[in-house]
Amino acid sequence: MPELHVELAARRYPIHIESGLLRRRIAALAQAPERMLIVTDDNVGPLYADALKQAIGRPDCPVWRMPAGEAEKTLARFGELLEHMAERGLTRDARVLALGGGVIGDLAGFAAACYMRGIAFVQIPTTLLAMVDSSVGGKTAVDLPAGKNLVGAFHQPQAVYIDPDVLATLPEREFRAGLAEVLKYGAIADARFFGWLEDNAEALLARDAAELEGAILLSCRHKADIVARDETEQGDRALLNFGHTFGHALEVLLDYGTLLHGEAVAIGMQLAADFSVELGHADIGDSQRLRALLNRFGLPTALPTGLGADAVVAKMRLDKKAAAGRLRLILWRGVGKAFIAGDVDAGALTAFLAAQSA
Ligand code: NAD
Ligand code: MG
Repeated sequence: MPELHVELAARRYPIHIESGLLRRRIAALAQAPERMLIVTDDNVGPLYADALKQAIGRPDCPVWRMPAGEAEKTLARFGELLEHMAERGLTRDARVLALGGGVIGDLAGFAAACYMRGIAFVQIPTTLLAMVDSSVGGKTAVDLPAGKNLVGAFHQPQAVYIDPDVLATLPEREFRAGLAEVLKYGAIADARFFGWLEDNAEALLARDAAELEGAILLSCRHKADIVARDETEQGDRALLNFGHTFGHALEVLLDYGTLLHGEAVAIGMQLAADFSVELGHADIGDSQRLRALLNRFGLPTALPTGLGADAVVAKMRLDKKAAAGRLRLILWRGVGKAFIAGDVDAGALTAFLAAQSA
């Protein structure tokens, strides 16, 4: 079974990727003496909580469930979970098992970061997005009405367990949105992987086990490498935000929920690529390759109609990835070659976006 490690200054942790993992025994968890609490949502719990209990050899492991969806990633739910942990009498050596998509991973991880000043947690991601992105790297958070992920902590999991088989039940739209983040790794840093995705697009869309495992493994390897180099986003980790400053602006302007995150990132990556072509950093052939692959994955690439260029740029300036006063963007020199542009001219960006929506 492929196994990766995330190498941090203080310690390392494994990422296990294996089809059928949840149908077998997870020895490292089954042998651990500590108390555990499974945290999940109302969609994932009924599908996989029993399998996880079997896999860890604890048919009586308690499960805490909450309604599914981004709208539930709140301080209120976070508080409910913490109080539940206290009522159960969990002590410092207890472990939280986050079973679900990025919403559960972020909320359960943040609760683990805060309960008794920090207890251990394990990620068992069940969406493609969570497998290739949110479960690795230790960012945890909840949303505030003022914005996404405004309260959180860096808290690395003890381990990540990925069973690609659970993707069989993931809704098609969620699956395709996850492919946007997979493709992102190829687009920013790995032209060979990008070519492999082009060659294997049909198999991935059919959710073939071998190809999925391969795509997840390579994505996690990229994420783990970047996190190891830059755990708290002082430098290189920002490359992972390719398409995200544009994407976040679209998510906010359209009200969260119209576009899935991966869909907004798909449009954002295409805009970043096309803007890079316009600035002379990248060739048009590369941006056409990007568009073709995104579209094959069923992902949008065009700026939604009815959005003013000024409004988009204003939101991009507010994005927390923008350094004070200037516009900081991840731009592109072509497939596999993203870079951090520290001082982007807002006027040129506005003109570019106005031409897109014309
Ligand atoms: P999600 O957790 O809302 O899951 C999407 C939907 O799929 C939910 O309805 C869920 O119940 C359902 N679902 C999950 N697994 C399923 C399965 N196997 N079968 C059937 N249904 C299933 O969304 P997501 O896309 O996984 O995560 C998005 C969240 O991740 C956002 O809150 C985002 O901020 C966060 N995120 C965090 C990081 C990070 O580094 N911490 C990175 C990227 C995204
Ligand atoms: Mg993302």
